[in-house]
Amino acid sequence: MPYQTINPFNNQLIKEYQTHNDEQVEQALATAHQLYKSDWAQGDMQPRLQVLHKLAEVMTSRSEELAKGITVEMGKLIEQSRAEIKICAAIASYYADNAAEFLKPVPYPSSLGEAWVEHHPIGVIMAVEPWNFPYYQLMRVLAPNLAAGNSVMVKHASIVPHCAETFEKLLSEAGAPKGAYTNLFISQDQVATLIDDDRVQGVALTGSEKAGAVVAARAAGKLKKSTLELGGNDIFAVLDDADIDHAAKVGAQARIANAGQVCTAAKRFIIHQKVADEFLKKFTQHFSELKTGDPLDSKTTLGPLSSAQALKTLSKQVSEAVKQGAKLHYGGAAVTNNPGNFFEATILTGITRDNPAYFAEFFGPVAQIYVVENDEQLVELANDSHYGLGGALFTRDLARARRLASKIETGMVYVNSATDTAPELPFGGVKRSGFGRELSDLGIKEFVNQKLVVLA
Ligand code: NDP
Repeated sequence: MPYQTINPFNNQLIKEYQTHNDEQVEQALATAHQLYKSDWAQGDMQPRLQVLHKLAEVMTSRSEELAKGITVEMGKLIEQSRAEIKICAAIASYYADNAAEFLKPVPYPSSLGEAWVEHHPIGVIMAVEPWNFPYYQLMRVLAPNLAAGNSVMVKHASIVPHCAETFEKLLSEAGAPKGAYTNLFISQDQVATLIDDDRVQGVALTGSEKAGAVVAARAAGKLKKSTLELGGNDIFAVLDDADIDHAAKVGAQARIANAGQVCTAAKRFIIHQKVADEFLKKFTQHFSELKTGDPLDSKTTLGPLSSAQALKTLSKQVSEAVKQGAKLHYGGAAVTNNPGNFFEATILTGITRDNPAYFAEFFGPVAQIYVVENDEQLVELANDSHYGLGGALFTRDLARARRLASKIETGMVYVNSATDTAPELPFGGVKRSGFGRELSDLGIKEFVNQKLVVLA
């Protein structure tokens, strides 16, 4: 894939980027590895934490310019791009403030003597990242690993090279030494070669199941650890005692934010039959008020999909779902009066289990509506999924919410809120949504040597 910036609002090519050849990749890997062997990675962590503090400052001070870069490159609404920069700065600050505590030695009372576990970096981490949050996805890997002393090398998605290159510059501006963070414009074959190299000791990927399976298998072949953050088909469950106005409003936003291209977006709406008509009416009303347009314009409320290919894939998925018996309750087509990659906010009902749509992730503004009679049916339907990332429950009965939350087979459940993210909360899933966790204290422990020392 060529590395190109194409504005999804009008499909105009803005810039094409030069790829890195094998020699450049080898030089970059050697630099990253040397840095891991140096005092920078093996010694006092304060200089590394200072870089994270500075990175937060730099991103905050350049927020507007960085946000515009996201919007022009992958089509996110400008307000949401600003929010992305804000959370990136928060993640950098969070690890700057807490990494020392997370990585301090932990005593293990033992009959064999004085024992403790220390945390050491393990080497170069290879990250493969997607376009949907072009800075946030990078920061989730960079901040904990830089604090821990690992060097990070990244192959970012080929449609967001501007953000990829800019992030590397931000690190350098924040004072990171060469090799601490390296952006690579490389092919899938070059990623495979890097994973095979002994100097690379861990692999982190966020993206599709297909990419996850290929990359994790490659890492496993060399007995290296990987973390995977893949797709999701999250539920948004509305119980009979929920505040329906609130649920309909939050649900609509949770489905169309980032034009629906979020792994933890609300995708399967499971509604109790007593409130199904009311919910659907209000939810549809919110969709009908959406306004497509330039994502740089603050009046636009539904932006384009990230690429022409994404639009093609989603259009095909929706027409196939309808062909197989789903009912189009609202929307359902690409927006044709605009050269950009716009798809109407869409609501599908009547999806039966034999319809491929039932198990499919729609990476765009397409909601699936299911109606259930009771909580048992809700849990059964929620768990009848290949994915297990997040999920949301809306109810006024918090005891009921707790009971149901513990029965949902996902990595995250939110009650009376859409699935969200914060630096201090672990993020990740089960089943085909992947394994491992990012963010929080759990994220920083994924790629460290938890070394036991015993003084007998
Ligand atoms: P991909 O998984 O193809 O892309 C994600 C990243 O993986 C990109 O950097 C991509 O590079 C890279 N990649 C893909 N295949 C390989 C490989 N064999 N070896 C090494 N790197 C690889 O996602 P798409 O952009 O094609 O989106 C398709 C679907 O993936 C979406 O519809 C959605 O279901 C899911 N997805 C999930 C995301 C999440 O947040 N969990 C984010 C994005 C997508 P390149 O761009 O060069 O192909």
